Amino acid sequence: MPLRFYNTLTQQVEPFAPLADNTVRMYTCGPTVYDYAHIGNFRSFVFVDLLRRWLRASGHRLDHVMNITDVDDKIIQNAVALHQPVEEYTAKYTEAFREDCQILRLETPERLVKATEHIPDMVQAIERLSETGHTYDSDGSVYFRISTFPEYGKLSHTDFSGMRSSVRVDVDKYDKDNARDFALWKAPKEGEPFWPAPIGPGRPGWHIECSVMAIKYLGSTLDIHAGGVDLVFPHHENEIAQSEALTGKPFARFWLHSEFLMVEGQKMSKSLGNFYTLRDVLSRGYAPEAIRYLLASVPYRKQLNFTFDGIKSAATAIDRVRNFKLRLESEKFPDCTNENMAARTEAASRKFTEGMDDDLNTAEALAAIFEYVRDANTAMDAGEFCAGNAAAALELLGRFDSVFDVIQPTKQSGFMEDSEVESMIADRTKAKAARNFALADQIREQLLEQGIILEDTKGGVRWKRK
Ligand SMILES: [Zn+2]
Repeated sequence: MPLRFYNTLTQQVEPFAPLADNTVRMYTCGPTVYDYAHIGNFRSFVFVDLLRRWLRASGHRLDHVMNITDVDDKIIQNAVALHQPVEEYTAKYTEAFREDCQILRLETPERLVKATEHIPDMVQAIERLSETGHTYDSDGSVYFRISTFPEYGKLSHTDFSGMRSSVRVDVDKYDKDNARDFALWKAPKEGEPFWPAPIGPGRPGWHIECSVMAIKYLGSTLDIHAGGVDLVFPHHENEIAQSEALTGKPFARFWLHSEFLMVEGQKMSKSLGNFYTLRDVLSRGYAPEAIRYLLASVPYRKQLNFTFDGIKSAATAIDRVRNFKLRLESEKFPDCTNENMAARTEAASRKFTEGMDDDLNTAEALAAIFEYVRDANTAMDAGEFCAGNAAAALELLGRFDSVFDVIQPTKQSGFMEDSEVESMIADRTKAKAARNFALADQIREQLLEQGIILEDTKGGVRWKRK
């Protein structure tokens, strides 16, 4: 079975291949830099990272554009409240976003583009839409008239034919139930920043920036447009209306949307006290790769329940793979090749591919890896794993890690809690009891890197901070 994705536009699972020269032209909606991004945002960005990595593993090249929304209502409101220029305010959160992405090992898209650096392009697009009768002006703002685009609603599969025309909206926050004409260009209110333009002073609406930057860099028709499911309506619906009204061509062939993230079974919200930025979670001492693993482990079209127990299980899962890799690299195996084991490795590799090809079914792909690790460990314990099987096993782990990217531990700069130290010492004691001295030494090294010194005494292990 070939690589295939569920396409929100057609509501079908369809085989995927890029349209031209084996290069996937992809646009994904980036952050609005008015605050630190939360773990719900990062679920979506981790999904996009897996998508990138699997497209590349499937032999395609990438041309991926992601926007940084660095002007919108909330940004202006917050910057004004702090008496800061908008650029200064957004620079801080743009930098924070880049750092967070790096911590979570998210690849940087080929082009990371800022809305405020494309204002003239947006003005030109709005002028063209006006020339072709898709807009109207009101109080210095320009609106897209959605009744001029009969296919409006085709992405969210909603029939808007009975809608009232000329009902407008100009805030960046939308009512999800109603289709409205939306602002392409907003006249400035008192004290707000604006750009001078032939269409009057103002600033762009949120939707037009994505259409304009996508078409500018990737052409009229993208292979993939992706984002969180909350963007389907109205954001992506509006992107389609503007873009197709501009070019007369289909805007994107595949639309992929990742589902919501819940926290401990509830919708994340500030009022429930379960609202977490990535930084909040990291400050509790969890390893970034465990957070990455948890966000990646649930297939993107399923709701993900984010729990702190879940991060701990993720860390355990990662340890299992790391320990297996360590065994492969450090144990002495009999000098032979076990044909059954070779076939088992090949089957695991195939199952891994099949899982990922199946609309990025990460749960299936991970199951293939962990069942294999269990079987291979059993074979090792029984002396049935041969030296001739090691290279293929390491290659399989390499394939797994080229997508999931969790094996390499993050160098921790933070303070290690006593309980964490004790738990690592307990792991080391267990490793020594099992005569796995390589693992025991590795744990000692890890602790030393954190400034923890171990002393083996008759009464057990003692430790101190450097
Ligand atoms: Zn967008």
